[in-house]
Amino acid sequence: MAYAISVRALCEFTAKQGDLDRRFTPAPSAQQGRQGHAQAAARRGNKYQTELSLTATQGTLMIRGRADGYDSGAHRLDEFKTFRGDLSRMKSNHRALHWAQLKSYGAMLCMRDERRHIELALVYFDVESQQENILKERAEAQVLLTWFAASSERFAVWAASESAHQSSRNAALQLLAFPYAKLHAGQRMLAEAAYKACHLGQCVLAQAPTGIGKTLGTLFPLLKAMGKGKLDKIFYLAAKSTGRKLALAAIERLQQTTRDIPLRVLDLVAREKACVHPDRACHGDSCPLAKGFYDRLPSARASALGSPIMDQAALRSVGDAHRVCPYYLSQEMVRWADVVIGDYNYYFDGGGLLYSLQVENEWRIGLLVDEAHNLIERGRLMHTMELSEGDLICAIRQAPPAIKRDLRRLAQIWTDLCDAQSDPYTLIEKLPVALLNVLQQVVSRLTDIAAEQVDRMNVDLERFYFAAMRFCQLAEGFGEHSLFDISGTTLCIRNVVPAPFIKGRLEAAHCSVLFSATLSPPEFYRNMLGLPPDAVWLDVATPFRAEQLKIRVVSRISTRWRQRAASLKPICSLISRQYAAQPGNYLAFVSSFEYLRSLFEVFADHCPRVPIWRQHPRMNEAQRQEFIARFIVGGHGVGFAVLGGAFAEGVDLPGERLIGAFIATLGLPQFNAINDAMAQRLQAVFGAGHEYTYLYPGLQRVTQAAGRVIRSTTDRGSLHLIDERYARPDVWRQLPSWWIGQSGQ
Ligand code: SF4
Repeated sequence: MAYAISVRALCEFTAKQGDLDRRFTPAPSAQQGRQGHAQAAARRGNKYQTELSLTATQGTLMIRGRADGYDSGAHRLDEFKTFRGDLSRMKSNHRALHWAQLKSYGAMLCMRDERRHIELALVYFDVESQQENILKERAEAQVLLTWFAASSERFAVWAASESAHQSSRNAALQLLAFPYAKLHAGQRMLAEAAYKACHLGQCVLAQAPTGIGKTLGTLFPLLKAMGKGKLDKIFYLAAKSTGRKLALAAIERLQQTTRDIPLRVLDLVAREKACVHPDRACHGDSCPLAKGFYDRLPSARASALGSPIMDQAALRSVGDAHRVCPYYLSQEMVRWADVVIGDYNYYFDGGGLLYSLQVENEWRIGLLVDEAHNLIERGRLMHTMELSEGDLICAIRQAPPAIKRDLRRLAQIWTDLCDAQSDPYTLIEKLPVALLNVLQQVVSRLTDIAAEQVDRMNVDLERFYFAAMRFCQLAEGFGEHSLFDISGTTLCIRNVVPAPFIKGRLEAAHCSVLFSATLSPPEFYRNMLGLPPDAVWLDVATPFRAEQLKIRVVSRISTRWRQRAASLKPICSLISRQYAAQPGNYLAFVSSFEYLRSLFEVFADHCPRVPIWRQHPRMNEAQRQEFIARFIVGGHGVGFAVLGGAFAEGVDLPGERLIGAFIATLGLPQFNAINDAMAQRLQAVFGAGHEYTYLYPGLQRVTQAAGRVIRSTTDRGSLHLIDERYARPDVWRQLPSWWIGQSGQ
């Protein structure tokens, strides 16, 4: 079977050379690019053909692409590239790539029309001046065809090994065995739904309890479907590094059970973790691992594929051996990996790498979204931007004279706008057009400066520039999904409903499974995440029995803000009584660090014999491990933590390592002006402002934290829900159904 490849991908593989250079250079926006192409084509008369579709077969390769324009009278083939700034600053390896694309189209056209020669024109269109800078070349067909054949041949060798890999991978995956004697009942249900989703191209929202093996229960069926040729790649996306580790562990388990599966697994880590030279910048003049990166990439790529799992350690070792940057090597390896594990950002964020590559290569992706309840908050953050007046003032101090006036004008409008507000927080119904117009002008001037400047912009100015650019982008797409507000002198476009941004990403995947132990009520997640209307809802019954978890609702104690001081001693008494009755390891959750500190101090006074330890704000990885390490089998004591924090989810403390939890809060987000504004918007959009802003997110955190206690069908433990609101039926209804029926006080 022919191996299909686009001209762009072929050229990137065969013609990219030289240094890696990630310095910021202002590029035209997608819209400016489209407009530039249209303008350049319009100048060439109405017989001029645009978007000329071309295909060619070279040995086992089927090469396809669209040339930008062709003048059949002059026999001239054009490739348009829009740019801004000084063209001479365009990186030479970018220009080489543009020529390679044009020559490929030239060869394909000569083949199609049996031409003996053709004119090639690389048209650089300046989006600011709208001037064209044209580089022309008359090319003999024979020369082009020889060049094209050699370039295709180089890729064909790689393509043959890729095809062989895919065939042997698929054959092996068909024989892939489940690593345990059988699937749990709930795990089987989840696996069947995921497998069916692959066949039917569906989206599944799956609530499945802790302990049934959701990671294997979703990865295994998708790998089986890949074996049947249903998927090109699987993207496993997690909100936290613990989720990524679980996915890696599940794959290692599969590899141990079915040996020699030729599966390429890539773990994408953040730049801060993977970078070898954090004091350098990512270009050849600064970092030795960026110098000549593309020249050494082919050997590094081949070597990376030799690792059973391309994780941080493996890519670091390949990077060392071949003197290439391991972080950018990992990004290159996405193209050749079968399973990619990474943070949500890589797919759902604006310029997400995985999404961009998926669209460009038209891959059939199986998308797995782990702990999907986190996607609402993470999605909001991806589409929220704050602009601080302090940053503007720093930018003015560092700005070159040419832009200072514009920035001062912006500062004046900004101050006037903020002075006109009487409250510390103000929700503004309509975007302030005058301010945005000036901000847009400032961004455009700073873009010109960035395009002209050889050295990097001053750090303060650059920080303001990037934030302002993003702010303007969000302002362009502003709608009922977001708010515009002013807190003091900080302006914010605040996303409330991430659905419009996430929807398209889910649609781009062939199938997707979003799973978590806490996705109730499903309408909340469907609406907030923009799931397709035919998305399947799966609620996997828990394997746990009600008698495993002894629940006590303590409604005589209120944890509301005003009653907090009065609540401390009763909560301490409750904890010490439970501890005396059944010594062991416990977790106590409260709503804030301040509350935690007060409770911790009172408890230390009240019960000095009970070993206690506490969560601190901004704990690093080692400190977190130290906190968790106190929960040992046969250990005794109480760990105090914040609900919704690092120890309230993704922490596995089976058996005696944790025998009970106290949750002294309803988990509701703070009642404040911002949350109230969000509630009003959610009321207007979905008619459920209080529930969507406070109740559902709060109880989701409670359920997650309580889920630390019972980890398997043999676990037993206790749970104290402390607040008078737990006695309310509307609250109780939102808690897991297997808890229902227990409400002893
Ligand atoms: S090693 Fe660090 S500085 Fe160098 S290219 Fe890689 S990420 Fe950039």
